[in-house]
Amino acid sequence: MHITICVSQQKPEPWQQGFQTAFPDATVSVWQPGAPAADYAVVWAPPQQFFDEQPALKAAFNTGAGVDALLKLRIAPGTRIVRLDDAGMSVQMAEFACHAVIRHFRELDGYEADVREGRWSYRKPRARADYPVGVMGLGVLGERVARALTVFDFPVHGWSRSPKAIDGVTCHSGEAQLDAFLSSCRVLINLLPLTPETENILNRRTLGLLKPGGYLVNLARGAHVVDEDLLALLDSGHLAGATLDVFRTEPLPAAHGFWNHLKITVTPHTSARTLREESIDQIARKIAALGRGESVVGEVDRQRGY
Ligand code: NDP
Repeated sequence: MHITICVSQQKPEPWQQGFQTAFPDATVSVWQPGAPAADYAVVWAPPQQFFDEQPALKAAFNTGAGVDALLKLRIAPGTRIVRLDDAGMSVQMAEFACHAVIRHFRELDGYEADVREGRWSYRKPRARADYPVGVMGLGVLGERVARALTVFDFPVHGWSRSPKAIDGVTCHSGEAQLDAFLSSCRVLINLLPLTPETENILNRRTLGLLKPGGYLVNLARGAHVVDEDLLALLDSGHLAGATLDVFRTEPLPAAHGFWNHLKITVTPHTSARTLREESIDQIARKIAALGRGESVVGEVDRQRGY
């Protein structure tokens, strides 16, 4: 068995060592142009040349959960595409999302600003019932986030493609229920995959359906949001603020209006990071399962786009 590693923006050697330890008898290589054909690949943002030269791959394992960039490449129809399935990301997403919601709900930015100026001041407590939180996407990450929010007694709503039942969460599904879902929420957390159906889904119309004083937490992909529409809704006061972890262009360009906007908190695509050891462990188990002819969770449906 030959496993090849093609991970841009990361050092390939620790991945290579990890898979060599998991499969001592296998050849585990770091991909170079012109390298021999491999059976399996571990990839992050590979160049098109990689797939052009590896048409016989049995499977390509993405070292992240989102496959929108990968699906833009030409990949042989016989190559399975497998995404990371949690691997330590959902707990990170839950802590990040709860932190963003609670920071807004408890007005912690305002308290911090007061304290920096030496002011001991109180704000009127907000009613939790006035802060229904909606989670768009109830997959591996969204479901964990929705469940985590119920612990703090927020009214929680969720929206997915297919119907779901999650304790303590009012679940909506499909395009027909999108408007009712959005109108039920004041805080919106986006955890959808980026697909042709979901690109630009957060725009003037949809964000305008949130209750007045709405708050957006975008943790999925920058291209879900129409940037100018978000800025217009923040400036008109319909939205009270946003926490944005992902952007159309990353790193966020220096001149972008999000950087210094008083109502926007920017973080550098860090809400749920790939954890190498957990990921190697999960991918190794999946390679072994595929070798035994079994199916694996996290196989991407190319038609659906996630
Ligand atoms: P999953 O594939 O497990 O879940 C996707 C969810 O979105 C599912 O509930 C799915 O519905 C729903 N969905 C997809 N398309 C639609 C649609 N057209 N209408 C309504 N619902 C839809 O993905 P994950 O939870 O693992 O990850 C979600 C995204 O988070 C990733 O694609 C990635 O972009 C982003 N991400 C961001 C990170 C960061 O650090 N900022 C880190 C990791 C991921 P159904 O259940 O019916 O299929």
